[in-house]
Amino acid sequence: MPGPTPVPTPDTAPYWEGAAAGELRVQQCTSCGEHYFYPRPFCPRCGSDAVEWRVAGGRATLVSYVINHRPFPPVEEPQVVALVQLEEGPRMMTNVVGVEPLPDNLPLGLQLQVTFEQRGEFAIPVFTPAEAPR
Ligand SMILES: [Zn+2]
Repeated sequence: MPGPTPVPTPDTAPYWEGAAAGELRVQQCTSCGEHYFYPRPFCPRCGSDAVEWRVAGGRATLVSYVINHRPFPPVEEPQVVALVQLEEGPRMMTNVVGVEPLPDNLPLGLQLQVTFEQRGEFAIPVFTPAEAPR
């Protein structure tokens, strides 16, 4: 699905390289063990710069969302813009796909699984329900 494409920076390049390889990557602090996202060179919990990239398991739960009925062109269908929490702990803004964008299909706490959408040169991590809705 076409849509806005990201502009990688040195801090985020490993994230986009991971996505292109079908991996959802987050950073982990080796001093305190915190996983975090978005990419930063210092741990947001303890301030250490001893941080490494990890491949996340890709499972998440739905924390909050809005149904955007006016997405950026050329996307015309309503889009679910969601805040999800990875099982490793970090929260990220993303899209939920593969489900009709209706509140009945999007209970908070819904179990999600990462998938990737190709937009131009980039693979964008998005999430889809891990179990089919009733
Ligand atoms: Zn830390």
